[in-house]
Amino acid sequence: MTIRTPDAVVASLTADTSPYLSCDECFERVDQYVDALLLDPQHADPAMHAHLRGCAACREEAEALLELVAADAVR
Ligand SMILES: [Zn+2]
Repeated sequence: MTIRTPDAVVASLTADTSPYLSCDECFERVDQYVDALLLDPQHADPAMHAHLRGCAACREEAEALLELVAADAVR
């Protein structure tokens, strides 16, 4: 188990946009990420954030999925 200091968490959130997940890893986690975001809009996943900020392809994928799941939830 990794213990993070608040400084490290803040640094990971404000770090530059270099993604440290690969697109494959991002793709594997995006379902989970979107579900978590819908349950809690404040949900923070620094690794996903960093990747989505730096990778337009995955960001579009995540946004499309979010819209899809959100539309589904309303039904
Ligand atoms: Zn990507």
